[in-house]
Amino acid sequence: MKTREEYIKSLEELNLEVYMFGKRVEDVVNDPIIRPSLNSVAMTYELANDPEYEDLMTATSNLTGKKINRFTHIHQSTDDLVKKIKMQRLLGQKTASCFQRCVGLDAANAMYSTTYDIDQEKGTNYHERFVEYWKYVQTEDLVVDGAMTDPKGDRSKSPSQQDDPDMYLRVVERRDDGIVVRGAKAHQTGMVNSHEVMVMPTITMREEDKDYAVCFSVPTDTEGIFMIYGRQSCDLRKLEDNADIDLGNNTFGGSETLVIFDDVFVPTERIFMDGETEFTNAIVERFAGYHRQSYVCKVGVGDVLIGAAGQAADYNGVPGASHIRDKLTEMVHLNETMYCCGLACSHEGHQTDAGNYEIDMLLANVNKQNVTRFPYEIARIAQDIAGGLMVTLPSEADFRDEKIGPYVDKYLRGRSDISTENRMRILRLVENLTMGTAAVGYLTESMHGAGSPQAQRIMIQRQSNMEHKKALARDIANVDESLDGK
Ligand code: SF4
Ligand code: FE
Repeated sequence: MKTREEYIKSLEELNLEVYMFGKRVEDVVNDPIIRPSLNSVAMTYELANDPEYEDLMTATSNLTGKKINRFTHIHQSTDDLVKKIKMQRLLGQKTASCFQRCVGLDAANAMYSTTYDIDQEKGTNYHERFVEYWKYVQTEDLVVDGAMTDPKGDRSKSPSQQDDPDMYLRVVERRDDGIVVRGAKAHQTGMVNSHEVMVMPTITMREEDKDYAVCFSVPTDTEGIFMIYGRQSCDLRKLEDNADIDLGNNTFGGSETLVIFDDVFVPTERIFMDGETEFTNAIVERFAGYHRQSYVCKVGVGDVLIGAAGQAADYNGVPGASHIRDKLTEMVHLNETMYCCGLACSHEGHQTDAGNYEIDMLLANVNKQNVTRFPYEIARIAQDIAGGLMVTLPSEADFRDEKIGPYVDKYLRGRSDISTENRMRILRLVENLTMGTAAVGYLTESMHGAGSPQAQRIMIQRQSNMEHKKALARDIANVDESLDGK
């Protein structure tokens, strides 16, 4: 396993092509806007090397027999699925942001079973290729960006019907030694902090979309790949001198990019699906299912936000007020409800034909559906408890100013035994999580990441086994079907 330092060094060795504010980023690893997101991923290495977290953060590889970072593990039991979400809650607590590494883990487990199924039916050798590739990822302890979401253009049209054929990523050329692909993947979490990118189709496809039914992996600095960094609310605060209090969280963050594949060559050994449109549904559903389980990450972030709200109440001198206690209880109830679903879909997992373990699809989708709502309510209550000062607070520069600083200090104090600075820090954290850079991860990503709410509702409907429920009702009500249709 890599250490945190080795991970950062390995990123420095990549030659990523990243653009931000109309310019190429010269030093991606040390850029002040990007760096907090790197720090979050680095935490997945740091904790894996900490004996205290060994049980959650590491696993034994079924491919190599070696000890590996759990973020590269092919799940071997329901216990592995449970440990995965406990690990994600822990990382959410330690970073209060999106730590980005789950997408590769989820893509790998979906790819493991899907390549196996394709081979069984088609006589291909995708599974063997994938296993060889993943051994390399485990051994080198790499971060893999799982890339699914295409720009999609006109939503009423299929990939091959689009006016611009590049709106979904596709194969544009076939060579003896591989393929050339063109297109883009949007909202790519953690791509700037990843060594590899694993591409999958984003929707179920039909025969005419054959060129779009492609799965593969390449290094993130492969020729023809470049990224355009997505900006976040309040991002420029990170460029201010001695940026600290005003950031709310001065160390960690998440990151998303629009990734362009401008005629990228993929060698044959890195292709895991090419044209098998009938398996696009499986890869999409499985990746989405695993990632909908993964959204327990927000429970860990919620722990921090609930803590911040409780702390803000303490600093205001009202920790015992009954309405505050009730609001904090409501936040905990919502947060733990999400955790319950994450645990349930993991405990109710099952073994796939390929041998790895998959979550219960219905419960994983219910989990993500809750995540599209509950963090918004938790954020609303946090803002209620924090009070308006959270958004009217003067800057750190004013607080440090010789002339006006003492006035800020005097009038913005809550309890007299608590420093104004600490009060400001907690309020800025609430701001960061509910409307600043981290709100991308805590709120909008909760809404749209791993599929927008409607995508889960479709899956919930499909998995609901409504006919069974109707039969139960008929049975209890002593419905006599021989009376019908006369
Ligand atoms: Fe992981 Fe959560 Fe970020 Fe997705 S949103 S990559 S599950 S931390
Ligand atoms: Fe996500």
